[in-house]
Amino acid sequence: MVDEKNKPTIAQTVTHLSAGEVWAQCLEIIRDNINYQKYKSWFHPIKPVALNDKTLTIQVPSQFWYEWLEEHYYTIMRSTITKILGQGARFEYSIVFEKTEQENHELSVRMPQRSTPPTSHTTTQQVISGRGYDASYATDTIQNPFVIPGIRKNHIEPNLNENYVFNHFIEGDCNRLARSAAIAIADNPGKNSFNPFFIYGGVGLGKTHLVQSIGNKIRQDYGDEFSILYISSDQFTNEFVHAIRNNRARDFSMFYRNIDVLIVDDIQFFSGKEKTQEEFFHIFNALHQEGKQIILTSDRAPKDVPDIEERLISRFNWGLSADLQMPDYETRYAILEKKSFENGIEFDVSIFEFIAHNFKSSIRDLQGAIIKLLATASLQKIDNIDLPMAKRILKDLIKETKKHISIEDIQRLVCDYFGIDSNKVREKTRKQEIVEARQIAMYLSKTMTKSSLKTIGLHFGGRDHSTVIHAITSVENRLDTSPKFQQIIRDIQQRIELASM
Ligand code: ADP
Ligand code: MG
Repeated sequence: MVDEKNKPTIAQTVTHLSAGEVWAQCLEIIRDNINYQKYKSWFHPIKPVALNDKTLTIQVPSQFWYEWLEEHYYTIMRSTITKILGQGARFEYSIVFEKTEQENHELSVRMPQRSTPPTSHTTTQQVISGRGYDASYATDTIQNPFVIPGIRKNHIEPNLNENYVFNHFIEGDCNRLARSAAIAIADNPGKNSFNPFFIYGGVGLGKTHLVQSIGNKIRQDYGDEFSILYISSDQFTNEFVHAIRNNRARDFSMFYRNIDVLIVDDIQFFSGKEKTQEEFFHIFNALHQEGKQIILTSDRAPKDVPDIEERLISRFNWGLSADLQMPDYETRYAILEKKSFENGIEFDVSIFEFIAHNFKSSIRDLQGAIIKLLATASLQKIDNIDLPMAKRILKDLIKETKKHISIEDIQRLVCDYFGIDSNKVREKTRKQEIVEARQIAMYLSKTMTKSSLKTIGLHFGGRDHSTVIHAITSVENRLDTSPKFQQIIRDIQQRIELASM
């Protein structure tokens, strides 16, 4: 945000440059000095915000972003800004924490760039102390500290699927942050600020694949020396119940405390399981304290997982949460190409296009389409599938995936989005946030279902149709005037479509 009160500064009057111009010059230099893909991922989304004396404030999308830049690009950023604004020049970061519903208003916090370069983060010394081992083993002559006899741990079967590796995971806008963080964690488990690492997103968007890739990479790089365990939350619960039944709760607890990299998948299934949550809470604390890496996934953001103890939710927020989104068309296409290549088959471009256009909800469905084509081709001994044939074969799959969208679904998803209880939109309350959610839900019920105004009114606590019309009109007015609001509505629509596939 530009601070209006700032008077023109020395740098500005001397150089006559605005924040935007200085940043544009920085970008030119940075682009020439780092890999283009990384430049695009990490620098493109940054916005110049203000130039105050020799301090250029730039806005980054998250705390993580800030940490990442400081960790990886400190030197280049520092030297670039010095080159442009002279000695003493520096960056300040404005981190967007939350976008409020009122347009053009973002909560952000300022962070200075640090004054010294970060220390390298993958020294032998740190890896050793990070695992709680005696750092005195670390000498330059030891290449791999973990093969020292005596500190080897009992082998734990990690439960990893070897196909889930980073190489098979296609990068796209939909997963860039999560994937980058996952790679950083695999490089340096436990010793990073992403602990726990929390990945969330809908079904079939790659959560399991990504977290298993972390495990597989650590295994590949460090052999058996990090004890890694991948487990679903259901399995964890079952084991725990079993352990209690057999008076082995202590063993259970000890076993988990010995793990260096614990990956728990789909923790939304801890919902309402108080005893399991309590046990997990203690394990979490013990591991975290020792700098062991904890990786969690869920179908929704930490704060939205229902019936989970507050103290666990707050711990989930200690590290980094990153979401996986629905892949865009290009990413879907790339995934299809890759999957067919892995299976040693080729399809006509038009078939890829057809599938990429029609399977928008999950990557699992994309794969399902390819598999169905393959299976049919081999059963019917067809050598070459053409587009009309592919359409015929996939017709049912496309139909099956379109489910009916109900007003209740819309209410639930809108309320999920705003983090409010979905009963509230059916009640009479006039709290601003609820009124807004209610109006949006009414508008979407009109545009996304075939329900009449009367039916919609009934679903919202028996309101009459004029109230519904009023809601729809006010949403439409805001849509006309606010791009931010358009984005919110698009996001919610996407979630509803995703849920109804
Ligand atoms: P989730 O755990 O989120 O439900 P999965 O990790 O099981 O999703 O992914 C579903 C399928 O899609 C898996 O077969 C996985 O390999 C594949 N997949 C997901 N994301 C990608 C990606 N970015 N690139 C390639 N394949 C992917
Ligand atoms: Mg999964």
